[in-house]
Amino acid sequence: MSTLFIDGRWVSATAGGTREVVNPFDQSVIRTVDEAAATDAEAAVRAARAAFDDGEWRGWTARRRSLLLRRVAELLQRDRAEIARLETLDTGKTLVESGIDVDDVTSVFEYYATQAESDPGRLVDAGNPAVRSRVLYEPIGVCALIAPWNYPLLQIAWKVAPALAAGNTMVLKPSETTPLTTIKLVELLDEAGAPAGVANLVLGAGDPVGSTLTESPQVDMVSFTGGLATGSAIMASAARTVKKVALELGGKNPNIVFADADFEAAIDYALIAVFFHAGQVCSAGTRLVVEDALHDEFVAELTQRVERIKLGNGLDADTESGPLVSAEHREKVESYVSIAVDEGARLLTGGRRPDDPKLARGFFYLPTVFDDCHGGMRVVQEETFGPIMTVERFSEIEDAVRIGNDTTYGLAAAVWTGEARKAEYVARALRHGTVWINDFGPYLPQAEWGGYKRSGVGRELGHAGLAEYQEAKHIYENTAPEPQRWFAR
Ligand code: NAD
Repeated sequence: MSTLFIDGRWVSATAGGTREVVNPFDQSVIRTVDEAAATDAEAAVRAARAAFDDGEWRGWTARRRSLLLRRVAELLQRDRAEIARLETLDTGKTLVESGIDVDDVTSVFEYYATQAESDPGRLVDAGNPAVRSRVLYEPIGVCALIAPWNYPLLQIAWKVAPALAAGNTMVLKPSETTPLTTIKLVELLDEAGAPAGVANLVLGAGDPVGSTLTESPQVDMVSFTGGLATGSAIMASAARTVKKVALELGGKNPNIVFADADFEAAIDYALIAVFFHAGQVCSAGTRLVVEDALHDEFVAELTQRVERIKLGNGLDADTESGPLVSAEHREKVESYVSIAVDEGARLLTGGRRPDDPKLARGFFYLPTVFDDCHGGMRVVQEETFGPIMTVERFSEIEDAVRIGNDTTYGLAAAVWTGEARKAEYVARALRHGTVWINDFGPYLPQAEWGGYKRSGVGRELGHAGLAEYQEAKHIYENTAPEPQRWFAR
């Protein structure tokens, strides 16, 4: 089957390009998909442009768009098991995690279905009874939606749902490494009744497929989730045509544990914070920042539990963590382990590939913990995006805050303490887009998600996540115009 979706039809890449999508657990080929060229990306943009400027979509009411989103949510749940399996095959994450992703995406579609209907604009008091002043929120136009490989379905859906709710048309570009669930999502959008040209899909490499989208004068907005270097390049490329740009980039997220924290819960979540999805999470709490008085006991217990994490096939029920996404990515993670050792970090566990021959064909890496770390180390400052925890210590609350803010990123952080006022003080002092108190990881469709500093520009989810895809138009109506006689009196 052809896997590009342009103007309501499944088509093959015009130049005949293909790419094999590989299972990171055993390197087997899951599916061969089309590999678009720049001309395919241009055709997708033309289709989105025509659908926005002249298509039936322009006449759709907010109510009708809302019903479309609700239908997509129903279809996602209907096909939950199939989608979760595809995501696990493609990324290596466990089936449970993939199922959680499908449920999350469903609730995001449901949330924006409600938001689409409850956004009539607002009246503005002009201070003059003869004036009727209103602000309307309108779609921006054609949006290029570019997503990474770690949460393929979830990250693209966080863009598609609000972009549709606002009335935009779009071109979706998933990561070339993990396109399968995005193909499925586009099938569901089609089945749910999205008109031709509203949601187009191109597959392929960042350059030329993604760059064609970001450079196109026909595209009004780029919403990107991915790495810092790519985000920076996209911003520069979009600047030439003054597109709106929304960026969700990386993180180097501190997990701060005070000595008065609930020990069992803090240990459990410290593991989740780093080793969930093998550390391939933008908000992973890879920097454990622990109070001196607790350090030895906490780190000893943690290390023991890290060694018991069961690696395996994401499809097996007893697997706790899958492989890394690709050979190339594992090499990047390995290079950070060497850097950490050279920098003087003390390796407590991991630091190598597993010995188990059953895992030999997968891109596995052992969960790794480094102690004696500090903010001057690259392994502490740069996103390794793998199962690597670094441990830093503090003795005073101000040190905890300083260490927590000692990063050019600002995506997420957590603070663990039994004292509510201390938690609130630290949460407010941290310069991160999300701060968890005595928890790690959850997010809500209703609450904004995004980064301070170099973790991004703009927000996803929540009301701001819809506003990203809207223009504000002020209509000022004078109901009793009178000559002003300013000129030519
Ligand atoms: P990446 O930057 O390599 O690629 C992301 C996407 O951009 C892919 O679809 C890729 O093909 C495309 N791309 C690459 N070069 C491009 C170009 N020149 N023009 C247009 N598109 C281009 O990122 P990745 O390795 O796939 O994902 C991992 C990164 O994503 C990590 O840094 C992670 O922190 C980040 N991330 C952030 C969030 C968040 O919410 N802030 C969520 C998930 C992942």
